[in-house]
Amino acid sequence: MRCASTPDVGHHEAVTATPMPRVGLGVDVHRLEMGVPLHLAGLAWPDEPMGLVGHSDGDVAAHAAVDALLCAAGLGDIGSTFGTADPTRAGASGVDFLAETAALVRRAGYEIGNVTITVVGNSPRIAARRAEAEAVLSAAIGAPVTLAATTTDGLGLTGRGEGIAATSVAVILQRD
Ligand SMILES: [Zn+2]
Repeated sequence: MRCASTPDVGHHEAVTATPMPRVGLGVDVHRLEMGVPLHLAGLAWPDEPMGLVGHSDGDVAAHAAVDALLCAAGLGDIGSTFGTADPTRAGASGVDFLAETAALVRRAGYEIGNVTITVVGNSPRIAARRAEAEAVLSAAIGAPVTLAATTTDGLGLTGRGEGIAATSVAVILQRD
């Protein structure tokens, strides 16, 4: 159904066949520790003195996106789907989790619209490598991933530099 304000895109059949989008939200936090290599948003950050400690590589941005995609498709969450206690997953790359998640979502009958991630933390400075991170994350899921970053103005666990948090929203579309 098209409402009067919908612009005429010239593909009426495609417009009427547009499936209902489904949305999913993901949130993740990991602790920062001195001397641990930092993996964040699909990239290594060798100049950072502290890294994220976690069941895998601690990439909160990738993990939040995984949860957003899984929730959108009704496939549980990263813990229930990938078994974070599984020792074979120790040190697993967030990018690999994302690629596996995208395959699961597609197998469940959905196409991925887009994913957006917001990283909350004092450092690193995401903006300097935003395009690089977006390219890696987008390639992992085969759909556009966009990345934003913010701080909590010195407040809370991310403001004190105890950890980095991330939230993500994913939109997926049911295939015919
Ligand atoms: Zn995580």
